Amino acid sequence: MTQLPEKQSSTREESRPQLVFGERWVYEPAPQSLADVPAREKYDLFINGKWAAPKGRKHFDSVNPATEQVIARVAQAGKADVDAAVKAARVAQTKVWGPMAPRDRARYVFRIARLIQERSRELACLESLDGGKPIRESRDVDVPLAAGHFFYHAGWADKLHLAFPGSKPSPVGVVGQIIPWNFPLLMAAWKLAPALACGNTVVLKPAETTSLTALHLAQILEQAELPPGVVNIVTGDGRTGGALVEHPDLDKLAFTGSTAVGQSIQRSLAGSGKDLTLELGGKAAHIVFDDAALDQAVEGIVKGIFFNQGHVCCAGSRLLVQESIHDALLDKLLARIERIRVGDPLDKNTDMGAINSSEQLQRIEALVEAGVAEGCTLHQSTCTLPNKGYWFRPSVFSGVSLSHRIAREEIFGPVLSVMTFRTPAEAVEKANNTAYGLSAGIWTDKGSRILWMAERMRAGVVWNNTFNQFDPASPFGGFKESGFGREGGRQGLEAYLRFHDDTLVQG
Ligand code: NAP
Ligand code: MG
Repeated sequence: MTQLPEKQSSTREESRPQLVFGERWVYEPAPQSLADVPAREKYDLFINGKWAAPKGRKHFDSVNPATEQVIARVAQAGKADVDAAVKAARVAQTKVWGPMAPRDRARYVFRIARLIQERSRELACLESLDGGKPIRESRDVDVPLAAGHFFYHAGWADKLHLAFPGSKPSPVGVVGQIIPWNFPLLMAAWKLAPALACGNTVVLKPAETTSLTALHLAQILEQAELPPGVVNIVTGDGRTGGALVEHPDLDKLAFTGSTAVGQSIQRSLAGSGKDLTLELGGKAAHIVFDDAALDQAVEGIVKGIFFNQGHVCCAGSRLLVQESIHDALLDKLLARIERIRVGDPLDKNTDMGAINSSEQLQRIEALVEAGVAEGCTLHQSTCTLPNKGYWFRPSVFSGVSLSHRIAREEIFGPVLSVMTFRTPAEAVEKANNTAYGLSAGIWTDKGSRILWMAERMRAGVVWNNTFNQFDPASPFGGFKESGFGREGGRQGLEAYLRFHDDTLVQG
């Protein structure tokens, strides 16, 4: 690590680097080695335990968003492929996975968790290569949490009767699962682990721009000798997702993605008798009171919206600051975003990587233009962006009010909208004044105020003096247009079970 300009100092105390506002820290590159990352040039579909070419013979490019280079060609599954996958899942459910002793299912789920740990370096590298997120996030958050979900659910597989005492749970059957591009492996784990532990079989559709880690997870399933057909992976674009939604032989569909697509799925499944869970968008508020530890809050805010390029459904994209500390907090925040290291996702020092796709970059740019046109003040980091790839500077809007588009619509990028409040009641009113309700963050020194606020938040998760913390044992899900159903914890199991008595299962 070096500091520019170089300081020539004689004593030890003086030679310690000084962090002075306006001065930039330059880190030597520390790229993650890609040796031993066995990416294939072409991936087929994983159906009934075998790799099968798509019947339409079409493959599409999976691109590294940091360089715009093609990493691999991925299969485009059509209706006939989706049909083959659902048929394989049905046979596996009724003949093998459903009747299997729960303790044996637990062993398979546990084995998958162990193999994810063993192959964690490969999975983290692929996740950053394919999706653009910093390797630090993939390595320290996505992959360990994905393994954690399989470990956690392996523990439940033979104890479901204890999770819901007095009831007799049984699997729902064959489940279609559709996931987005922001946490490709982790979302696959969130969906697969509880479904398998509860005795269901699955057809999983990853997002078009980030299929690679799901396909390597399929290799792990092979390595774990999971019986054929228990998990089938069909890659492709929205048409593949549509074919899965419309398949008549599904018992349940679990979707994570945008509110617009989620709503259209809900309309098309209405009256079909299929179960449905939806994890959709968010517009979370960070609420910072005047007694909060400001530096700590700034770190939480930065982590909550910038470290993952804002590609997080529960990102803290609205900042509500008590009026008396607005200027002080904004100054600290702007100084901090100037020091966010934006660049190569595979460099271990990188804080913020590439935007996932050119389409997403265009969406972010359009909403930021709308914010400027509506009269909000835009502050951006002056960092140097790479010439190739899809990049956006860490950005903060001040002077925002609730009616502005940037305060209402999900930007899903590294853009924070700052607003003020005077009283706790006004903070509650403003935080809840959104169509979404996925998460919220409260920053204050007073425990009683935390409880008072948390009780009034219309959000599935409320973090206090921290942000974006996840645990497989903790249920996650939304209110209002953020969807319904929970993932994780005992509540998450319910979505993959049917109950054969009159016991009312409480969430
Ligand atoms: P998206 O466009 O809704 O896509 C999600 C998935 O659905 C992708 O696999 C997509 O395929 C597929 N899809 C697209 N159109 C479809 C259709 N008509 N029928 C069936 N499937 C279809 O969302 P996204 O842009 O990938 O992801 C970002 C969104 O996900 C954000 O709104 C974010 O808030 C939300 N999200 C929510 C959570 C949560 O837990 N609540 C977690 C993560 C993300 P393609 O990739 O080919 O388009
Ligand atoms: Mg990609």
